[in-house]
Amino acid sequence: MIDSLSDGFMSIDRWWRFTYLNNTAERYLRQERKNLLGRNIWQCYPDLVDSGYYRIYQQTAASGLPGRHTDYYAPLGTWFEARSFHHDDGITVLFRDVTREHEHAAQLEFEASHDYLTGLANRRKCMEALTLAVAEAASPSSTDGASLALLFIDLDHLKEVNDAFGHAVGDELLRGFAKRLLAIPEPAFFAARVGGDEFVLLLRNTTESAAEAFAHSVLNVLAVPFEACGRSVSLSASIGIALLRKEPESAEDLLSHADTAMYAAKSSGGFPVRTYDGALDRGMRDRVALRIDLREAFAANQFELHFQPQIALADASLIGAEALLRWRHPERGLLTPAAFLDLLLESPYEGALAEWLLNAVCQHIVAWRRMGVTVPRISLNLSARQLLGVGLTDRILHIARAYDISPAMLDIEVTEDSLVSDIEKATSVLAALKQAGVSTSLDDFGAGYSSLSYLVRLPIDTLKIDKAFVRALVESEKASAVIRGIVGLARSLGMKTIAEGVEHQSQLEELKDAGCDSVQGYLISRPLNSEAFAEFMLWL
Ligand code: C2E
Ligand code: CA
Ligand code: CA
Repeated sequence: MIDSLSDGFMSIDRWWRFTYLNNTAERYLRQERKNLLGRNIWQCYPDLVDSGYYRIYQQTAASGLPGRHTDYYAPLGTWFEARSFHHDDGITVLFRDVTREHEHAAQLEFEASHDYLTGLANRRKCMEALTLAVAEAASPSSTDGASLALLFIDLDHLKEVNDAFGHAVGDELLRGFAKRLLAIPEPAFFAARVGGDEFVLLLRNTTESAAEAFAHSVLNVLAVPFEACGRSVSLSASIGIALLRKEPESAEDLLSHADTAMYAAKSSGGFPVRTYDGALDRGMRDRVALRIDLREAFAANQFELHFQPQIALADASLIGAEALLRWRHPERGLLTPAAFLDLLLESPYEGALAEWLLNAVCQHIVAWRRMGVTVPRISLNLSARQLLGVGLTDRILHIARAYDISPAMLDIEVTEDSLVSDIEKATSVLAALKQAGVSTSLDDFGAGYSSLSYLVRLPIDTLKIDKAFVRALVESEKASAVIRGIVGLARSLGMKTIAEGVEHQSQLEELKDAGCDSVQGYLISRPLNSEAFAEFMLWL
């Protein structure tokens, strides 16, 4: 019966001599029982002495209590689980080969903690390692001066690569990048892939400048083109660095600081490496606070419009004004769109803004009319989504009618990039506006795509020549040539031109020379509040 057991079975007497071994034990030990019977186990298997097995066998022999132990037994290359039982004349051991189970468990552990694609640690393992490293660095025994640095790497445009060449190429790039990361001399002691195109590296005993130098080596290995599925692709990245400071910081803090720095690098346009500092955090906190304040802004009536006059170059007459948004923030004072517009346009209030803007413009026109001044036309800026939102033309007509204002007094400014996202829809909205009598302007012309193929099809009344060209005037012959080109182009398409950002008389002269129709800029007037603009009109 014992011979037919699937477990190994051996009996050992009080002098540690084998007294019995079953068939399975022979197989496991790769030894015939006749070579072992009667011999001392510690002499046959000297590697066992002082092992975990040794301990439980001794314990069971001494105390009579059963024991259990699992370990890797190197001479046989096998994981054994052994259980020991006491009997009157020594001990009995039941043991089995658990190598398969063990390797499976180890594999599972590896898979749970590693990224299948690159073999680097995954996010979970990263947090574990980071927590450990932070605790270690914070312990009193750690040398001060040198510290722990976390590099947060975000690859640029991996999505585009995937879209253009397929995921197989993207995967190959990620694998290739991971390999190169580990091959950088004096590599990071820990590397993980924590998101689709996000990697974390940990550097120990480093300094700010050493960490930054390391970040640049990472950029260098990325810049060398990768061969993936027969294609040659090179990549770039943005890298945020956070160093563990003296103050107690958690692993999460460190990671979020590096993340913040990475975002700052990404949005800096041209500075791919950024080290976190408190100022950066204040900046980000500022934005978060502003986002929260936005919720109150409409209800608390904190938005207002300023108006910047537009003048015809032929006779210096007023042709209209552009309405520019301002936020009278209760603590921060008057804010221009640079401080908040992107937050507002990605908030749920984007639609509400368009509605508010239309009403506010009409209210001002009515108020000026009561004062006896007539403004020829007011231009409003609309974002892509505001322009393409449902029923814009109907809303405009409805509101204009409610205030008894001719639609011809309104002009809608849109930018090129807001048109190209859905050029068909944009074209039909612009056509509907034109049909309704509302005029339209193409803002920042020359700064965006400027594709002639769609310009020809767009029902636009006025091209607004971007500030950048006006600024370059006088110094650069090319800018002057470009402006002449734009004016000629507009004329042949039946459009008017207005130049923005005119600050100097010399720019105005050149624009006049180039045949530009009108101008807007600090030279004529800065944007004015409603009362000041009314006064401006009265004086004109
Ligand atoms: P924009 O449409 O290009 O507006 C012209 C900007 O140039 C205004 O900045 C104006 O104050 C500034 N400016 C005018 N003359 C000069 C000059 O001579 N020199 C210089 N350097 N700058 C001049 P502002 O008011 O800060 O507006 C910034 C941008 O915010 C606008 O650029 C527009 O795209 C956006 N924006 C403003 N109001 C609204 C709005 O009500 N709705 C939407 N969707 N966007 C708005
Ligand atoms: Ca504008
Ligand atoms: Ca503009």
